[in-house]
Amino acid sequence: MGKVYGGIEAGGTKFVCAAGSGPTELRTEARIETTTPEETIGRVIAFFRGLPEPVAAIGIGSFGPIDPDPSSVTYGLITNAPKPDWQNIDLAGAVREALRVPVGFDTDVNAAALGEHRWGAAGRLDTFIYMTVGTGIGGGGIAGGRPMRGLLHPEMGHVRIPHDLTTDPFPGICPWHGDCLEGLAAGSALEARWGKPSETMPADHPAWSLEAWYLALGITNFILTLSPQRVIVGGGVMALPGLLAKVRREVARLLNGYVNAPEITRDIDSYIVPPALGNRAGVLGAIVLAEHAEG
Ligand code: ZN
Repeated sequence: MGKVYGGIEAGGTKFVCAAGSGPTELRTEARIETTTPEETIGRVIAFFRGLPEPVAAIGIGSFGPIDPDPSSVTYGLITNAPKPDWQNIDLAGAVREALRVPVGFDTDVNAAALGEHRWGAAGRLDTFIYMTVGTGIGGGGIAGGRPMRGLLHPEMGHVRIPHDLTTDPFPGICPWHGDCLEGLAAGSALEARWGKPSETMPADHPAWSLEAWYLALGITNFILTLSPQRVIVGGGVMALPGLLAKVRREVARLLNGYVNAPEITRDIDSYIVPPALGNRAGVLGAIVLAEHAEG
């Protein structure tokens, strides 16, 4: 029996905590509602203290923006998050101090990419992106085998895309940019534009053609700038049957044969794919972050 690691997928509506060593070795899981930082982090710490055996290290994949740079004075913080009460919260520090174990810290989407890299849809590829389309839109990934980081971390959800106001007068909901990709195509934007939750809209609703178009514009930009070997797209909005197929068709149309790789020109169904780990990619990736933190 190997070591037991802790994983935390820190989200804006819930924190998923788990202990284990992989998809078939996740022994304990808890879902903790995201309320105030004090209460939520307190319950996370209580979960790990209550485990029958201590974890060797903990990984956190967090909503953001965050500071993932270990050499920075604000490392481990959720920084200018749009969520009320969650600005400048030292999430990694609080967990490390309370539980006295090494703590790894990255974005929720980079963590999910790590999970898919180890056990999921990325296979043996070492440069790919992971995108989630849920209440918000986020993108992370692995480049040359390492999570994508730099100045801060990728913010793929906030790229600017063409927005034709005559066909879609909706101004977008991003508090910073209005009609960025997230502002136009996140689940919360769908709900605001059409006046009802996206999961209640049938597959033939006009919302979905527009959604596929916007997502394809974003993904096309990521393919052109990052040259990923695969694009993994998850999140609650993508659960709509047929949406991913529409996105693939629009991406192929937008690229128009220019990126001359057989993965795209001949087999785009294997190039733009759903996560193999489903909604467990994040928490499993957090366990990989824990392993890395232990060194
Ligand atoms: Zn934005």
